[in-house]
Amino acid sequence: MSPHLGMPQRDHVRLDWHTPDRVLERVRPVAWTCGCRATVYELFQGGGQGFIRRTLQLDDGHRVDESHRWSIAKARATWMALLSGKAR
Ligand SMILES: [Zn+2]
Repeated sequence: MSPHLGMPQRDHVRLDWHTPDRVLERVRPVAWTCGCRATVYELFQGGGQGFIRRTLQLDDGHRVDESHRWSIAKARATWMALLSGKAR
C-alpha cells in the first residue's frame, strides 16, 4: 500500500531539492507515495546510496526534482521524516 504524506509540521526540516543533472544507473525505487496526489515521492536506492525523487504531475507534463544522495540509513530516516511531516 502506498502511503499519503502527513501534513508538514510547523518546524519541519526543509529538504534541498534540485533538478536531476544526470540519469543514474543501478538505482531502483524501493518505496513511493500514492499516485492520487499531484506530488509523488519515491525513495531510490543503489550503489550504497539513497535519495528521494519528487515528481510533480502537471497538466502539461512532469516536473522532477531530487534530493541529495545520502547513505541508505540516512535516506531511509529522511523518507520516514518525509512521510510523517517532519521533513518536506
Ligand atoms: Zn491516494
